[in-house]
Amino acid sequence: MIITRFAPSPTGHLHLGGARTALFSYLFAKANKGKFLLRFEDTDKERSKEEYVESILKSLDWMKIKLDSDPVYQSRLVNKHKELAFDLYKKGFAYACDCNEKTLTKMREEQIAKRQKPKYNGLNRNRNIKYEEGMVLRFKFPLKGVSKFNDLILGDIAINNKEFDDFIILRSDGSPTYNFSAAVDDMDMNITTVIRGDDHITNTHKQINVLDALGATIPSYAHLPMVLAESGKRLSKRDGAKDILDYKKDGYLSDALINYLVRLGWSYGEEEIFSLDKLTKIFKLDHVNSSPSKYSQDLLDWYNNKYLNLLTSEELILKVKENSGTDFNQIDKGDLAISLLAKGANSLNQISDESIYFFEEPKIKFDSLNIDTNKRKLFAEFNKQLKEIDFEKISIERYIKEFLQANDLKFPELGKPLRIILTGKENAPSISELLLILGKETSLKRIEYSLDD
Ligand code: GLU
Repeated sequence: MIITRFAPSPTGHLHLGGARTALFSYLFAKANKGKFLLRFEDTDKERSKEEYVESILKSLDWMKIKLDSDPVYQSRLVNKHKELAFDLYKKGFAYACDCNEKTLTKMREEQIAKRQKPKYNGLNRNRNIKYEEGMVLRFKFPLKGVSKFNDLILGDIAINNKEFDDFIILRSDGSPTYNFSAAVDDMDMNITTVIRGDDHITNTHKQINVLDALGATIPSYAHLPMVLAESGKRLSKRDGAKDILDYKKDGYLSDALINYLVRLGWSYGEEEIFSLDKLTKIFKLDHVNSSPSKYSQDLLDWYNNKYLNLLTSEELILKVKENSGTDFNQIDKGDLAISLLAKGANSLNQISDESIYFFEEPKIKFDSLNIDTNKRKLFAEFNKQLKEIDFEKISIERYIKEFLQANDLKFPELGKPLRIILTGKENAPSISELLLILGKETSLKRIEYSLDD
């Protein structure tokens, strides 16, 4: 059975790149009827915070990514990791090293002077030093040959073993290092497929060698190319390196974000709209693009607009209320109002921001509109006849059309000022729909207020 995992370090909130990694791991597991696990790599005591554990859990929950087991906390497994590090030491796969800072600095300086890549030169590799507290344990990295694996996205990746050094698996304070702990945990959690960012490729080579020494089965690996900003640079706060829960706060729907994230480097023919349910059936790693993808706020907004318009007015009313407190149930025809606003909105918050004129009178005076004063009479006439008509969509539309014709007006001559009078905004939905939703009484009241001296 396929078992994947997401292994965040809780040193910050979940961002877009991490969320995509989690989503791809989850989808790959589900599409293969496997399991998806979560492991908090929380061994860095200074930087790991409970607050981030919670916000990562909340973010995954919001994205409807479900765990098949309770989360694993790496910090609780330190003794086990230590034991296994000593096991490798006893079996000769690791050795004790007592090099102090001075020796290591000198080593590094000499290498730099010789234009060599600075790395541990294996000084104590064959000295059989007996471990004592305060020493480190180093992994005996193979000296010859190449380390290679077949990446499920990137294909064969090989690095000459000369490029590596005997990295530390147990620090001088007795704590295990990331590459050791991650390898041990992947083994213990029976992970079959490690899906993570391509910044971990070098670590993968190290971890494969550790797993080999531990006698473990080597999992498959899939490295996801980075998500870059539109500029091609690293993502910054402005373009997507923000907390996933901020997207929720800003009025994005999780279905839209998921659809956007999955299309960020993954394709499935010409299709663009995918429900999470469908994705858990069709997702495949061989459709993941091997080059970096770029964040696009416009595309995310496009998806959010699409998904907002798939909701019923009841669902929209509920979500807008949850998100910003604006309650469309307080107005007559709130269902029509919210559907109308959703057509042009990129977020729940935008619907709420735009909706102000349904709740409050804009109080616009005709004189402030800078229109030819002769037109005032026309508006008064428009209002007078408006009183008489039936407030149905068809009759309102017919009336506007006939009024324009009878007075030889082009639509904007009436529509533009009228939209401002009714809403206080230049950009608002169509006049006939506005009139219909505001209702006869409110519409007449606003026009009369505007024309009154
Ligand atoms: N904890 C690592 C990180 O947050 C991930 C390690 C992994 O996926 O193996 O980058």
